[in-house]
Order: sequence, then structure tokens, then C-alpha cells
Amino acid sequence: MVAVAVHERPEAQGLIDGLIESATGLDPRSELAAVERQVVRCRRCPRLVEWRERVARERRAAFAAEEYWGRPVPGFGDPRARVYVLGLAPAAHGGNRTGRVFTGDRSGDWLYASMHRAGFASQPSSTRRGDGLRLDGAFVGAAVRCAPPANKPLPEERERCLPYAGDELRLLTRVRAIVCLGAFAWDCAARLYALRPKPRFAHGAEHTIDGGPVMLGTFHPSQQNTFTGKLTEEMLDRVFVRARELAS
Ligand code: SF4
Repeated sequence: MVAVAVHERPEAQGLIDGLIESATGLDPRSELAAVERQVVRCRRCPRLVEWRERVARERRAAFAAEEYWGRPVPGFGDPRARVYVLGLAPAAHGGNRTGRVFTGDRSGDWLYASMHRAGFASQPSSTRRGDGLRLDGAFVGAAVRCAPPANKPLPEERERCLPYAGDELRLLTRVRAIVCLGAFAWDCAARLYALRPKPRFAHGAEHTIDGGPVMLGTFHPSQQNTFTGKLTEEMLDRVFVRARELAS
């Protein structure tokens, strides 16, 4: 069972939520969509709120004509998922621009291409919301939902945000494998399930949570790792093939 406390939701919020369409195509009446709406409104971390909104105002020159999302980025995928992919946080000009996790940046290109080869994604690219990408049997979330400066959230920001991933995992009752993208995500998954001692991260590491899913570790598909060859397509593909095995 997920051990991290969930965020509380005001009673009346449910009525308001029902009137707002899901940003990622979830059934708006579902509990997952309610979590999504709670995420996109969140302003609990002043430093990250200031940063995500400033990046959205100032923009990168290449995207100057685009309207940035500039809000927390919700999870995305199949409500019947058997594989949950846990990332670190949205990229300033990726998810923070497009509003969908791992969308519009090179890390997302790598991730969804691999998930496509493993049969979890309908297409190998992820450029913007509404680009036709659908996930089948997989759901992608992040430990922290706002883009952090230098991709480094503070420990207290991680603690505030991690319950959203916990909410998703609690609702995604079919999940059999959690693919942790990098050591940070691996550590967060261990926190979610209150694992003691914490299992050790490595690329290709596996840890079966007592009565829960199997954690699978992979190096993060960041440019730092993919440009240098620390993570190759074959390495990432092997992890998703293993996830597929566990899911079936
Ligand atoms: S990082 Fe998470 S908890 Fe903090 S403001 Fe963003 S969504 Fe809210």
C-alpha cells in the first residue's frame, strides 16, 4: 500500500471539478481526473510557483510565439494502467510549456519512443497536448509537478508534491510495475511505499514491494545521459520490455 499521506480535497471542490474538462482526456467524473484538477490548481510551493510562471512569461526564443502552460503538470495515461512511469519533474520548456508530462522536450522523445516500441504508446513522439498520443496500459507521472530551477526540487517541495503520485498509484489499482526514471524517482517510489531499508538504485535494478508492484530502475532519459551514451535506446527498451513482462 502507498504510505505517503494523500492531499485533502474540500467537499465542495468535487462539484466544481465536475464542470471542468480533464486536461489529458480522463473521464471528468473519475477520481483520477479529480486528482488532475487538484494538481493543476496547486500553489503550495512559492518558489516553484514563481519560477514556473516566470519561465512561462519570459519564454525561450524558439517558443516565443507559444502560450506556455505555466502550471503544475498532471499525470497522463491509461486509467487501467499496469505500468506506472515515475519521472522527476517537468522541464521548464517541455512539460511547463505544453502542459503534458514529458512532452515537447528531448527526454520525452526518448521516453515515448521506447514506450512505443514496447507497445505502451500509440506513437513515438510527444509534441503537444492533442497530438494524438494515447497510452495503452501505462500511466506517466512525476514526483514533483512544477518545473524546478535547474531541475532540482528542494526536499520540502518533494515532500509536498509526492502525495499526488501516491494518489494516482492508489487509484491505479492494476499497477504491477513502477518504472523509476533515475535515482530521484527511485528514492521517491521507496518513500511512497515507506521501504526500509531503501533498495539501492541502479540501471536495471528491480525491487519487489511486499504486497505491491515491482520497482524497475533506469537511468533518466535526460540529454546529459543520452548524449553521453550513459543511457542507450537498447538499455531503456530492455527496462520497458521487462515492465511489459511484469504487466502481463
Ligand atoms: S510542486 Fe507540487 S506541491 Fe508544489 S506547487 Fe507544484 S504541484 Fe503544488
